[in-house]
Amino acid sequence: MGFKSGRHFLQIPGPTNVPERVLRALSRATIDHRGPEFAQMARELFHGLQQIFKTAGTVVVYPASGTGAWEAALVNTLSPGDTVLMFETGHFAALWRSVALKLGLVVDFIPGDWRRGVDPAVVEETLAADKARKIKAVAVVHNETSTGVTSRLDDIRQAIDRAGHPALFMVDTISSLGSIDYRQDEWGVDVGVGCSQKGLMLPPGLGLNAISRKALDASQSARLPRSYWDWEAMIRDNRSGFFPYTPATNLLYGLRESLRMLIEEGLDHVFNRHLRHAEATRRAVRAWGLEILCLNPEEYSPALTTVVMPEGYDADALRKLVLERFDLALGTGLGKLKGRVFRIGHLGDFNDLMLAGTLCGVEMGLSLAGIPFLKGGVAAALDFLSGG
Ligand SMILES: *Cc1c(COP(=O)(O)O)cnc(C)c1O
Repeated sequence: MGFKSGRHFLQIPGPTNVPERVLRALSRATIDHRGPEFAQMARELFHGLQQIFKTAGTVVVYPASGTGAWEAALVNTLSPGDTVLMFETGHFAALWRSVALKLGLVVDFIPGDWRRGVDPAVVEETLAADKARKIKAVAVVHNETSTGVTSRLDDIRQAIDRAGHPALFMVDTISSLGSIDYRQDEWGVDVGVGCSQKGLMLPPGLGLNAISRKALDASQSARLPRSYWDWEAMIRDNRSGFFPYTPATNLLYGLRESLRMLIEEGLDHVFNRHLRHAEATRRAVRAWGLEILCLNPEEYSPALTTVVMPEGYDADALRKLVLERFDLALGTGLGKLKGRVFRIGHLGDFNDLMLAGTLCGVEMGLSLAGIPFLKGGVAAALDFLSGG
């Protein structure tokens, strides 16, 4: 690979572009994580995280990727042999299921075609049929990053309530937190699972659990073995601004900065910015004559768009070409979508011209790769972006 001038375009749907302000914050010298300056920072963080999750409940932060935060949600609330209701919305839902299975949980996995979100009617039906109350948790991926489909959490919550079922409601907010409206308390989510490298605009390395009162109560009798992930020691030490083991101090500096940025911009503004960039991207895709993987317009993801390749063309060859020619990284197809789709991330620290540049790279790449498409996708996006 030769010398690369200019800026790399990291348009995968996570890790996302890390803003300058966050990079500078990350590079500060590490301090004593048992000293007063640290404790003060930790208190600001917990408060900021509550605002981002829209909860008055507790938020804990692990030095971990999102997968660790998935495991933490399960081991703190459930016991061996408990049943969890999960939905095959895509690759990440399938991975969360495999974590649950390895932990000795039973998963009732509702099949899906990876082109739709969780159907609230199926949630209601399944829970209503569970007369013995064997299902202890309903686990949903809010924004399926492998497909670009966002499930309707509000409707799912209402479905659980209509069934009158006591199961815990667990939500993977990993690629929605800080980019798509998410309301932990209003939607009665018991464990919100998040991590650092998507909407929070940080490098990978922090895993989050936002915990309801009901989930805390469940953790008192949950019997899955847990040590590193145990909420109890975390919450006890966090009260005074400390951690039971060494926290990722520099990532926490970055988190403090990214939370400040999200709050400065205003969450509603952040969400609208993502909605607008998603709409512009879809207009480009349609003008190219290509297909959007998500079938239900109500479930289009504001954070990324997954584009289906014309039959017989390899998405990864296109990705390789735009990376080499334009230093633009697009998301690969995950799991069974490998080679069949590519993903355009439009979440995190992002603006109109960055989106325009990204779409230009895709359009030029489609041309260079000899893929049958119509020119004019970029023009359609620009018309939308400049249209008031
Ligand atoms: C990225 C992502 C994960 C996985 O997180 P890791 O940090 O790779 O462990 C899980 N769920 C969703 C929806 C994601 O987008």
